[in-house]
Amino acid sequence: MQVVLDYLKRNQARFVAELCEFLRFPSVSAQPQHKQDLRACADWLAQHCRQIGLEAKVCPTTGHPIVVAKTKFVKNSRKPHFMVYGHYDIQPPDPLDLWESPPFEPRIAGRSLFARGSTDNKGQHFAHLKAVEAYLKTGTPLPCDLTFVIEGEEEVGSANLAKFLKSHRRELACDAIVVSDTGMPHSDCPALTHALRGIIAFEITLRGPSRDLHSGIFGGAVDNPAMALSQLLGKLRDKNGRIAIPGFYDDVAPLTAYERSELSRLPTNDAELRKLLGVKKLFGERGFTPIEQRSARPTFEINGLTSGYQGEGSKTIVPAWARAKITCRLVPDQNPARIRKVVCNYLKKICPPSVRLEIEAGHGAEAYLVSPKSPQARAALRALHQAFNRKPVLMREGGSIPIVNDFKKVLGADTLLLGLGLPEDNAHSPNEKFDLDCFENGQRMSAFLWQELSRSA
Ligand SMILES: [Zn+2]
Repeated sequence: MQVVLDYLKRNQARFVAELCEFLRFPSVSAQPQHKQDLRACADWLAQHCRQIGLEAKVCPTTGHPIVVAKTKFVKNSRKPHFMVYGHYDIQPPDPLDLWESPPFEPRIAGRSLFARGSTDNKGQHFAHLKAVEAYLKTGTPLPCDLTFVIEGEEEVGSANLAKFLKSHRRELACDAIVVSDTGMPHSDCPALTHALRGIIAFEITLRGPSRDLHSGIFGGAVDNPAMALSQLLGKLRDKNGRIAIPGFYDDVAPLTAYERSELSRLPTNDAELRKLLGVKKLFGERGFTPIEQRSARPTFEINGLTSGYQGEGSKTIVPAWARAKITCRLVPDQNPARIRKVVCNYLKKICPPSVRLEIEAGHGAEAYLVSPKSPQARAALRALHQAFNRKPVLMREGGSIPIVNDFKKVLGADTLLLGLGLPEDNAHSPNEKFDLDCFENGQRMSAFLWQELSRSA
């Protein structure tokens, strides 16, 4: 193992230069004019994988290609098999005038490498590739088989990945999936993210009169849909920040004492958070800390609210309709379809007869949870500890990564989220960067991880 770590240490300068080469491809998946750039980037990546000793292919899809690279499997070796997932596509770099240096000309300042795609996600999965290179180039036997699946459509919804997983189910069947595409709180504070929130989206419309009415002639004798909607929404949350929809919390898995004590170790500060967000006072469900509220508790959020006249000056009308766009963040073990039903039923029940209620369903995704005490999660925590020389923290992520549910459903394996991004990395924003300490420690983490995970399998 020491020879692997020494190799990593010796070759950092070259690794950074190679990562810069990778970052020069403007592989923006959302913009059709970059189609050839994505193809060229995928070809470069596959070629690089071959150079370090992997077998690699570029698999076409109806969108952008998927790069699959694997160690040479020995038949009937009975080694465990792990998969690393990442994406080589990136967000558009706009607005360009806010970049301090061009987004596709990588620039190093101190321990920061600035370029679009550096943290999200090229630098993060490249760290795993370099760890494997260290094993292969030093002739150190890997305790497991490894497959890298690096796609080109993550930033546009991964439309072809689930199909690809299904059609390559046998080849990709594995013991666990490792994804470094999330964050850690600080470069000195490595983290395992073991849970993600799910989501349901929908729109509520209340319809009143067949057209906007003169409020002087008719106002007072008909219900006002904007007022009715405000009252309806007002009934959905109580003053303690609890969602007041019967059945909403029925399946919420409570936080264990272990998790709560782990979450309390995260370096956060309520006053700083208040300042960062520009709010007078934090507000959330009573009985939970802000960190718990943001990651381990479900929410009901009004994302948009529209009705009546929005132009300059006043217009004396009773609007014909009012609409709210809603999303609920869900947590384990809430089922999106069941929560949708619970919410719809309650809205129907409390909607006054003076307006007509319409509900339009939007997208949905399940929450995700790996037990932090599972052998694989423990193995990942050990690898983080050894690589960073710091006790890692356990985290829950408040957002959703729907592909993780596909991994579970199609490949039957859990995903370990070992993010190397920092909060200040500017993912999706101008001046995106990747921390070179996170890059190097990420390589070490990956090197330790295959040992620890194989032992747990
Ligand atoms: Zn992204």
